[in-house]
Amino acid sequence: MVIAVLAVQGAFAEHEHMLEKLGISYVELRKKDDLYQKYDGIILPGGESTVQGKLLKELDMYDTIHGQIQQGMPVLATCAGLILLADSVENDDREYFKTLPVTVKRNAYGRQLGSFHTKQELKGIGIVPMTFIRAPYITGVNEGVDILAKENGHIVAVRYKNQLAMSFHPELDDDERIHKYFAEIVREHAKQ
Ligand code: GLN
Repeated sequence: MVIAVLAVQGAFAEHEHMLEKLGISYVELRKKDDLYQKYDGIILPGGESTVQGKLLKELDMYDTIHGQIQQGMPVLATCAGLILLADSVENDDREYFKTLPVTVKRNAYGRQLGSFHTKQELKGIGIVPMTFIRAPYITGVNEGVDILAKENGHIVAVRYKNQLAMSFHPELDDDERIHKYFAEIVREHAKQ
């Protein structure tokens, strides 16, 4: 099993470090040619969704990754990655993959509470640490979306088919369970 990490901008190295700790092979997606390697799942890291979205289009990577996700390739999306997957962004007109039927609000915690740390229950895993950095949260979900976690009443983690998306940064905490959970989804999908 090989997991691809989108590495055009943002916190991709931290995801790679987590995969190394778990002994999972990975490749980086930095340019179009990288998309023709063999991999079984994709991680969309945090960072700046507007920059990532722009680079994906400029580097001509957007359509191929979009197609892979539409065809069911498992994705773990964190923070900016969640914004890239969302069907709609309530406070931004830019549109990206739109494969995850949720509405998100960018920078939803405002300036004062831009970054914080907490612990909450994540369905199927237990209490997990959550680090939020200028995070979005989910303001609406459509049919088929499983809500996995809430923080202060706001939806911060969901699963829809093979797409696992969250507002916070599991790669920044010393807890590997979310990456393990994702690796299980990838392993199951690779078997089919
Ligand atoms: N605020 C960023 C955005 O809107 C997301 C922040 C993050 O990924 N840590 O894209």
